Amino acid sequence: MVGDSSLNFNLLHRICKLVVLLCFLHISVTVVFYVRSLDSRFAFVQNQQSHRVLPNQDRLSARNGSKEAVTGLQTAAEQKQEPAKNLEKCPETSPLLVGPLRVEFSSPVSLEQIKKDNPEVQLGGRYKPKDCQALQKVAVIIPFRKRDEHLKYWLFYLHPVLKRQQLDYGVYIINQDGNEIFNRAKLLNVGYTEALKEYDYDCFVFSDVDLIPMDDRNIYRCFSQPRHLSVSMDKFGFRLPYNQYFGGVSSMSKEQYLKINGFPNNYWGWGGEDDDIYNRLAFRGMTISRPSGELGKCRMIRHDRDKQNDPNPQRFDRIAHTRDTMNKDGINSLTYKVVSLEKLELYTKVTVDVGKP
Ligand code: BGC
Repeated sequence: MVGDSSLNFNLLHRICKLVVLLCFLHISVTVVFYVRSLDSRFAFVQNQQSHRVLPNQDRLSARNGSKEAVTGLQTAAEQKQEPAKNLEKCPETSPLLVGPLRVEFSSPVSLEQIKKDNPEVQLGGRYKPKDCQALQKVAVIIPFRKRDEHLKYWLFYLHPVLKRQQLDYGVYIINQDGNEIFNRAKLLNVGYTEALKEYDYDCFVFSDVDLIPMDDRNIYRCFSQPRHLSVSMDKFGFRLPYNQYFGGVSSMSKEQYLKINGFPNNYWGWGGEDDDIYNRLAFRGMTISRPSGELGKCRMIRHDRDKQNDPNPQRFDRIAHTRDTMNKDGINSLTYKVVSLEKLELYTKVTVDVGKP
């Protein structure tokens, strides 16, 4: 009897040990699976966050020259993406516009100050809105020679205006090298060509360096017809000097520009080239679009006549023959030599040899 009961006890003891062992095994396996599931949920959340946050971080780091954001394959892949593609289009009318501006030239401005005021402007004078995709890619082309004081005012006033207009833009100063007679229209052709080598611009604003808009609702972009922007200049008593006037500041899409074979290359000295451009547009069946006189107000920085830019005595004769000359003289016959190309903080400066008459 004693032998029987001790046998039973031993058996029971073994069975209990087995049950405890099985329970332990079960708990261990459950714990392992639970911990692993926690791990993967955590990884999923991290992944989601990196998709949301990294493009911005990358943009920021790229601007600051930091390499911190490039930590793995995924980040590198994201860096290659055009961030603009993920953004919504900017609205037709920018909500940042303020309307009439006070424009005066009595106190001097410095490039350092302008740079400080516009930290988002990138090397070469490039900018694009960071919260939306700009509606147009605009190259602003400025023919130039020895007008550094005027250029500072232009940059001082125009960078903030163009930013508020939510444009994807670049500023190109086309500096005529040497002391030969000035050739405004040829410099504009050079600007068009050089800007396109750098970026896929679809709109070109051609501006004199001494003209400043007095209202930021005068948008420096392109329209369905070529646009004349400087329609009420203080120099002309805030009105158009004549109906066909197309000088000062104008804009044209790539298509409009190519339709007229660009601008004439053989207007040396002051005057006439803008009238020739007007003729070209008219002969190709285009009309001029303009802002209202109120929105189109602008100030000109007063200055003496430049050396080597006397009125061109041949201009009247040339304007009379635009129809015959426009097909052979223009972007299709442009020749020039780039002397230097400088990416400066607030603009790109292209110094160019355009030859002589
Ligand atoms: C000239 C233009 C000039 C306009 C206004 C015209 O006589 O041909 O080039 O823009 O005057 O000054």
